[in-house]
Amino acid sequence: MYAIRVHQAGGPEVLRYEEVARPEPGPGEVRIKVRAAGVNHREIWQRQGILGEIKDPFILGSDAAGEIDGLGPGVRSWDMGQRVVVNPGVSCGQCFACLRGDQPACSRFRLVSGAYAEYMVVADSNVVAMPSGLTFVEAASLGIAFVTADAAWEAAGVLPGYTLVIWGASGGLGTAALQLAKLRGARTLAVTRSSAKQEALKKLGSDEVLVWDGGRSLQHEVHDLTGGRGAEVVLDSLGERTFADSLAMCRRGGVVVIAGATTGGKTALELGDIFRRRLTVVGAYLGSASVLPRILPLFSRGQLMPVIDHVYPLEQADQAHEQLERGDVIGKVVLEV
Ligand SMILES: [Zn+2]
Repeated sequence: MYAIRVHQAGGPEVLRYEEVARPEPGPGEVRIKVRAAGVNHREIWQRQGILGEIKDPFILGSDAAGEIDGLGPGVRSWDMGQRVVVNPGVSCGQCFACLRGDQPACSRFRLVSGAYAEYMVVADSNVVAMPSGLTFVEAASLGIAFVTADAAWEAAGVLPGYTLVIWGASGGLGTAALQLAKLRGARTLAVTRSSAKQEALKKLGSDEVLVWDGGRSLQHEVHDLTGGRGAEVVLDSLGERTFADSLAMCRRGGVVVIAGATTGGKTALELGDIFRRRLTVVGAYLGSASVLPRILPLFSRGQLMPVIDHVYPLEQADQAHEQLERGDVIGKVVLEV
């Protein structure tokens, strides 16, 4: 089969489209004929070697949709040809965190890999039936973005009537967070770098759109829009450039959810500010295994919708990475296999 593999860390040019052995499903595993794979920032960091040294060539990709193409020994819950979406979190299934449904807190938690390929093998518990009415491309765009966004709002205890700030609102995570915030009855202040994206963000349900120039603080604009109080929750996936401002734009008792650090992860904290203003900083890294099966039916019912910016053939994964790194997206970039 053909796949996109990384042999050494570097720019998009290190993504190699090459022939590799088709994987065989072991006990409790299924093989998926991949039809589409979603592209995430995490794969850019993996490619750059930021998430760990690259020792052996490996296939990138955690979000995929396709058809069941092989059943390992003991698999009874799936049939050949069934359309499925990959549920990307893997955990031990036995520890305290797993048993209470908080898989991302499992010490063995990781994400599946291997979606940038014609075939991939995952545990039979890592697939969910694909909802009707979605294309493979749409289904492959949902996993990491929507699960992380839902888990972020859950971690922050978002209630109807809350005002939420979403940095990077036009990205995959941002457009998912925006839609899920509206379902929770919250008011959304969407932040984007480009005034050209304002209209698209309004259509996706943002109540206010703030255009950020990459430098200045948005604290006063958020305070003006919230009667001087600040936002209940800020979703920050940019990190270094925005974190101090995220804290500043929170109201007393507010929550900053960190779900990424695309501008870097180093920051200085004024701890006096944290305890005097009763602020909470919480991390969101994917979400529990139950999130994807719970929210997928909402796409069939039209309460949520996939937002696809561009589709590339698998062999052009380098171009997909380049586009995502430029930040020139509204929604998701997807590879078609
Ligand atoms: Zn566990």
